[in-house]
Amino acid sequence: MVENILSIDVEEVFHGEYTRRHRHNLYYRTPKNIPPILKILEEHNAKATFFIVGEIAEKFPEVINMILEKGHEVSFHGWIHEPLWKLTPEQFREEVRSFKKLHPHTIGFRAPSFSLNNETKWVLKILYDEGFKYDSSVFPTWTPLYGTYKAPMHPYHPSLKNIIKEDETCPIIEFPLAVYKLFRLIKVPIAGGFWLRLWDLGLIKRGIKKINDEGFPAVIYIHNWELDEKTPKINAGILGRFQVYHNLNKAKQKLASLLSEFKFTNFSTYIKDALK
Ligand SMILES: [Zn+2]
Repeated sequence: MVENILSIDVEEVFHGEYTRRHRHNLYYRTPKNIPPILKILEEHNAKATFFIVGEIAEKFPEVINMILEKGHEVSFHGWIHEPLWKLTPEQFREEVRSFKKLHPHTIGFRAPSFSLNNETKWVLKILYDEGFKYDSSVFPTWTPLYGTYKAPMHPYHPSLKNIIKEDETCPIIEFPLAVYKLFRLIKVPIAGGFWLRLWDLGLIKRGIKKINDEGFPAVIYIHNWELDEKTPKINAGILGRFQVYHNLNKAKQKLASLLSEFKFTNFSTYIKDALK
């Protein structure tokens, strides 16, 4: 049975693109919503990678400890969840170093809003310089906010010159988010978050099975705030409201169904097992 990879993107609901202008009026829920998530994972014997926003990790260092104590992995998800296209290479390097002061063993990164593309590919070299081993930011599809449609759909070593090309000499491993390829050209994003809430579970499960049949892990993600009944309600505009709150009450049950049917591990364990 092929193992899949589960990631929890640890941020507040106000870190998103549609909600960030409200951030000064809101409170942090992460220390409260992580323990129930750890319990669900334990019940299903699943291991996950938690990509944490730096400012949360700095404010609540106990969050890192509770995640590590349960045998999960802690990785980096930007300092205040700025998409990469808003940062300079110098700012990004500073962010990475600040996070590594909090958790020196960090080897993985996920770009906020999946903002890694050929304009922001300079990030990969910095990650390598700073001791990272993998990245999981490429979404090989098209959406209004993000997507690198032509990128490979399986783990690969990306070329530092063109991230949609493979280059075995690149030391960083890229883990693209799960998409379900239909009718040759359609690539349905099924990796989780909004897509998990939007699509029928049957479609998502067929997509995961197809990826597994090809011998690859499906890379799945969910936000901690999507699994929290007390996530603050923000006026995020029509589009934002749909993206943030659509089917929010179904996220936990849908995740539990995936955890019951498929086996999940975290990135570092997957890499270790693959190298055996
Ligand atoms: Zn995020």
